[in-house]
Amino acid sequence: MSIKDNIQYIEGLKKEAAEKAGKSADEVLLIAVTKLHSPEEINQAIDAGIGDIGENKVQEILDKYEKVKPVRWHLIGHLQTNKVKYIIDKVDLIHSVDSYKLAQEIEKRAAQHEKNMDILVQVSPVNEETKFGVSMEEVKSLVSEISENCPHITIKGLMCIAPFYENPEDVRQIFADVKSVYDGLKEMPHERIDFKYLSMGMSHDFQVAIEEGANCIRVGTAIFGNRDYRSEEK
Ligand SMILES: *Cc1c(COP(=O)(O)O)cnc(C)c1O
Repeated sequence: MSIKDNIQYIEGLKKEAAEKAGKSADEVLLIAVTKLHSPEEINQAIDAGIGDIGENKVQEILDKYEKVKPVRWHLIGHLQTNKVKYIIDKVDLIHSVDSYKLAQEIEKRAAQHEKNMDILVQVSPVNEETKFGVSMEEVKSLVSEISENCPHITIKGLMCIAPFYENPEDVRQIFADVKSVYDGLKEMPHERIDFKYLSMGMSHDFQVAIEEGANCIRVGTAIFGNRDYRSEEK
């Protein structure tokens, strides 16, 4: 199967799941996760209709940025404060804001560039299992703190990485819990809070995520095949 075939296949599954959730396919954004894949492969995906790509490392964005056709870039992995300056003018949405300290740095750099930066707050739905993300209890106070103090940031929603279970049915309740937190925060009246994206679901669980309310999915392996992690050591 080519990258193009895989994308068509995923689009089909996405449509089915979206319809189950009472949405149309185009209400769910498919982000192609391109970490450890080459600019050539990424350009094939763009030619096949992908308009949004996700990377989890700043360095990979910098390495590929000039070599990839015009597209929207998403930073989906953990972001260190000292690296914000490199991507502030390159990415369209940062999915992984999980501390006020990181938000303050994004605010400072966005102000220098006289731009607004769209972000998602990353929640960790199962506290002990994931390294990054704020707990479900802390997310509201972080959203308030950022919205009150960061005039160059707009909070566009939430992101989560669910723990991996063989059977994706086992994460259904977790996705539903994150959706209910999302729905609660969405109503917070503030001009810097403009919830539009609930980013959850990856190759093995995106259908369940969509059924439970995700409207932004991040799919890598199912589009590009397995990643060769050995090449990272070179
Ligand atoms: C790698 C990655 C994905 C995609 O994972 P696949 O299982 O390859 O679809 C999604 N989100 C984040 C944050 C990732 O790092």
